[in-house]
Amino acid sequence: MMHIKMVDLQGQYLRIKNEIDAAIQEVLLSTGFIQGEQVKNFAAHLSSYNQGAHVVPCGNGTDALQIAMMALELKPGDEVILPVHTYVATAEVIALLGLTPVFTEVDEETFNIDPKQVEEKITDKTKAIVPVHLYGQCADMTPLLKIAQTYNLYVIEDLAQAIGATYTFPNGENKMAGTMGHVGCTSFFPSKNLGAYGDGGAILTTDKILAEKMQMICNHGQRVKYHHDVIGVNSRLDTLQAAILDVKLKYLDDYTHRRNLVAGFYDKQLQSVPFIKIPVRAANSTHAFHQYTLRTVGINRDHFKKYLEEKGIPTMIYYPVPLHLQKAYRRDGFGEGSFPVTEKLSQTVISLPIHTEMTTDELSYICDSIKSYHG
Ligand SMILES: *Cc1c(COP(=O)(O)O)cnc(C)c1O
Repeated sequence: MMHIKMVDLQGQYLRIKNEIDAAIQEVLLSTGFIQGEQVKNFAAHLSSYNQGAHVVPCGNGTDALQIAMMALELKPGDEVILPVHTYVATAEVIALLGLTPVFTEVDEETFNIDPKQVEEKITDKTKAIVPVHLYGQCADMTPLLKIAQTYNLYVIEDLAQAIGATYTFPNGENKMAGTMGHVGCTSFFPSKNLGAYGDGGAILTTDKILAEKMQMICNHGQRVKYHHDVIGVNSRLDTLQAAILDVKLKYLDDYTHRRNLVAGFYDKQLQSVPFIKIPVRAANSTHAFHQYTLRTVGINRDHFKKYLEEKGIPTMIYYPVPLHLQKAYRRDGFGEGSFPVTEKLSQTVISLPIHTEMTTDELSYICDSIKSYHG
């Protein structure tokens, strides 16, 4: 029996150990632990990577969302539309700022917010839409941006799972995830596609003035030390993390390529397995494959999960309880049946191991094990 890893951060580190260790040593010797030069360097490199968008590094992806919403001056009572099938952080910061999260159903095939249902959610209190590029594939931005323009709404992209993905507009123009709306928020949580060795995050925007404001908010609302122009927070990217991320950024395209090779292998091996549906590739987006997420059909997903576990194959469920059924977010009379697609996904999705270090032997073993499952 093989013992497969869901992610292999150790293997990934060992391949670039010399470079990472040297980068860490440099920070230790410089002692510039907060706002050291590596933070600026990394921000500049991440900016080039993202077609020149301004980059504001911060403490984590959740803070990135919060700081973006603070900078856009969203006020208590404002409504913010978000997909109900997402990680809790997206809803959390909305609620924390006293804004109203307006849950919206997702498309069953792409797992992303359904633009057709967004428009129905708009009221005169709606101020923003937060598309989440879930599992690594861009939400359908063309109709979303059009709706935002029509109703004068901000678009805050959550690209925590999709750094490096690109979206193609009908005119053929390609844009990076996070650069299409007013702001893009990402996370460098260790297991994310560009992962730090601790927490980290960044905010992208093509608006220079907004970037400056977010930079200020991240650092106690000050531009000049001890002069506080706006209410801020303490959310800075550690210099050590920036140094690590600056090394790893060079490998991000290779990492994305490796993830796509894994996904391609799974696609080919699993496409005709009757009790699963492989992920649907949207025509207008590349896929960063943060997760390779199957939908099970006509079998007991949890039984299938247990079967794989017994074969040494870990899997994950993203997400087992939809946001509108979570104790903290149950409101507006939502209950079971309010979001049937999301509820169905919570019972049928299962994410297979996908990372940058997977071997063909491991992949064959996983696929063979799946194929020999009998209810
Ligand atoms: C990981 C993640 C976040 C939060 O990022 P942290 O750095 O863990 O705070 C937000 N949204 C989505 C969709 C995520 O996957």
